[in-house]
Amino acid sequence: MGALNTFPVSVKVEGQRIVIVGGGAEALNKARLAIKTTAEVVIVSRTIEEDFSALPVTVRERPFVPCDLFGTAMVFVADHGEDGAAAQRMARLVGVPLNVVDVPDSCDFYTPSIIDRAPISIAIASEGEAPVLARLVRARIEAMLSPDLGAVARLAGSLRDRVAALLSKPQARRFYEALVTINSPDVEALLESHRGEAEGIVWLIGAGPGAEDLLTLRAQRLLQEADVIVHDHLVPDAVVEMGRRDAERISVGKKKGHHSFTQAQINALIVRLAAEGKRVARLKSGDPMVFGRAGEEIAALRKAGVAYAIVPGVSAALAAAADTATPLTLRKVSTGLVFATAHGADNDELDHWAALAASGLSLALYMGKTITASVAGKLLARGLSASTPVGIVVNAGRPDRTLHRGTLGELALDVISFSDGPAIIFIGAAVAAGDWQDAAEIAVHDFKVA
Ligand code: SAH
Repeated sequence: MGALNTFPVSVKVEGQRIVIVGGGAEALNKARLAIKTTAEVVIVSRTIEEDFSALPVTVRERPFVPCDLFGTAMVFVADHGEDGAAAQRMARLVGVPLNVVDVPDSCDFYTPSIIDRAPISIAIASEGEAPVLARLVRARIEAMLSPDLGAVARLAGSLRDRVAALLSKPQARRFYEALVTINSPDVEALLESHRGEAEGIVWLIGAGPGAEDLLTLRAQRLLQEADVIVHDHLVPDAVVEMGRRDAERISVGKKKGHHSFTQAQINALIVRLAAEGKRVARLKSGDPMVFGRAGEEIAALRKAGVAYAIVPGVSAALAAAADTATPLTLRKVSTGLVFATAHGADNDELDHWAALAASGLSLALYMGKTITASVAGKLLARGLSASTPVGIVVNAGRPDRTLHRGTLGELALDVISFSDGPAIIFIGAAVAAGDWQDAAEIAVHDFKVA
């Protein structure tokens, strides 16, 4: 991620002036922005080409003079002549922040695209690099926000003292959340209903395979509501970041070779946090109910009498199927799907899977990357055909995914050099129906797909 060369702030302009030097179209544009504020907007130019009469601005049709900058919060120079140059020099001299329209190198500040729901403002800035993109982003955000947002913000502002006196901090936050999400709320009833003891809860949330836009809307909403986010290492930072900015974040990562929490410690942690009245987002990769140790956590929560809810996510096998357009069930080819863990599978289990695959079910093996060849060998030994199609997706659902395809016989040769990241192994006839065009062939050569 690149660092910002600018720092977005909201500058106080109340009781001050915003001066625009110039009288043409550029000046008019800046004037339209500036009048969104309560500042006095002053236009200075010897020639006024545009019609400013409909705007609440002061027009001084004369050359720029230094005292134009007294009491001035910022100055826009939209005049490419002598007056513009003089205004620039003067602004520098007296330290008034300066914007020279369309000359980024001479600017102290840039004007972002603005969404105005006073007192709420949203600024989209691109450091002058991509104004068109910034405007597009603005249009999208604009469409998401109710025109009443400003009124709700003002209502919230007017209630601040009462809320602070009546409610604890977590209660207050929940109150404000309800205030902004409920249509025409009954403020008194809402205040009353938030006065009780805050009840903790644990949400077991599926974060999907690691792409931010493969999260459910519910997961996204609850991440915003959570006081604490407890996450695994497979959940990418970008998803963890989607939570509330001031939410506490605890990584209980189980990455090989790193310090990590035991399952018992995780169980104890989420129970304790909820008992403190916190709302806990227990964020897991994929779906929480698929190889996610959800069973143990739910048992612990039940035992402790803690409220909980499960939010499903896109499990890795389903993301891998989507990546490769592989129909895991397919009429006359595959009548079902087995999610299994390759890691730690014993002989009985292997017998069982070989039989299932032979009878036409698709196998989706989790946690098998380091033992693919040996699992393939064992399935062959149990009579599964060497020509059974296999496909492997590393980093399913993510931009950096890599694919491998071949047959069970080839898989047993142990020639794949995998790229970093978790992998799903598909075994079964349905794989052949997918689109594995971008996959490296397992036997012939094995290379990283760009
Ligand atoms: N609950 C998760 C599974 C967690 S177990 C889910 O539903 O997806 C961890 C295993 O999941 C990994 O060893 C790997 O087999 C698989 N996995 C998780 N994310 C993956 C991804 N983005 N691509 C491929 N496999 C993934």
